[in-house]
Amino acid sequence: MKVTFPHLGHAYIAIEALLQGLGHEPITPPLTTKRTLEWGSRLSPEETCLPFKTILGNMLEGIELGADTVYMIGGWGPCRLGYYAEIQRIILADLGKQVEFITLEVPRGGPSQAWQRLRKIVGSTDVKSLVQGAVLSWTKLKIIDELENLSLWVRPRERERGSTSRLLEGQLQRIREAQSIRAMAKVRDRAELALQDLIDPKLTSDILRVGLVGEIYVAAEPFVNLRLEERLGYLGVEVVRTIHLPQWVEDHIFKNALGLYKQASLKRSAAGYLEGFVGGHGLESVARSVDLARQELDGIIHILPLACMPEVIAQGILPKVSADKGIPIMSLVVDEHGGEIGFQTRLEAFVDLLQRRASLCAANRSI
Ligand code: SF4
Repeated sequence: MKVTFPHLGHAYIAIEALLQGLGHEPITPPLTTKRTLEWGSRLSPEETCLPFKTILGNMLEGIELGADTVYMIGGWGPCRLGYYAEIQRIILADLGKQVEFITLEVPRGGPSQAWQRLRKIVGSTDVKSLVQGAVLSWTKLKIIDELENLSLWVRPRERERGSTSRLLEGQLQRIREAQSIRAMAKVRDRAELALQDLIDPKLTSDILRVGLVGEIYVAAEPFVNLRLEERLGYLGVEVVRTIHLPQWVEDHIFKNALGLYKQASLKRSAAGYLEGFVGGHGLESVARSVDLARQELDGIIHILPLACMPEVIAQGILPKVSADKGIPIMSLVVDEHGGEIGFQTRLEAFVDLLQRRASLCAANRSI
């Protein structure tokens, strides 16, 4: 099968390896652009959230490249993700697209339904290729996360503006090409050294640290979040992520499928602010903000798509967390009509506030 799938940052590198292991030909859509969003928005119900529209655009661009099958994640719960896949399937069918639409979700209908679903996903591959593909894919996902995290630390300290992003992109493409764990480890080790070489030794102290919480898709997809992490890096801010794709896969796919995923630690952190799961990442946004405040970061940015119900709940709670814990928190809402200039201005104003606050704290300490 020629399979296309939605983008989520650099996850496509790991998804390609997994699809090859499953015996399919991956048809990676072009990286998400204005065209993707406009195409998806034109065909989406107006009131759906931004991720729905860009993901539909990715599917259309993948089909345009020759895909005959679409993979999409599913789910259930209070947020709208649960019915995304079905609506997208109907939209594609209405457009006359002759594609098989496969929704990947933890099955609820017992072993026979699970087996039927699995048979569709696993092509005519043999067990050895399947295991190899899964291991390669998982290793790629973890290395991407490691290198991206290191880049978040290096970027505000880089000698030459843009050098971290350029180097990271080049190295991730080498991870994409690598066909063994050994080859990937070599690329990773060299990339780590090369990234550290970009640092200006004069800029190693007094770097602001800002935590990032919010809805997973907008937090992880650079086109949708207007390259938020890069912008902050160029403003001299080290971003501390709270959403890591390998962790998400482990919790929400592996552990969830085995009934082992528990939200006890999130509920403990959010106690007094939010009592339980509200769909999406709403609980995480509150719990992680409390955790970040305990780590004494300089500030927190909460990013959410317009009309995202779980994050709107979190948005209403975070000012109380900010006041109680004494940490500035800014919520940034993104949608298809948002402009870059206003977005940049808000970031600069927030960073300015954090800088003044940090200088004031330093002055108070020295008295
Ligand atoms: S978490 Fe928010 S943005 Fe994501 S699918 Fe649910 S409602 Fe939409």
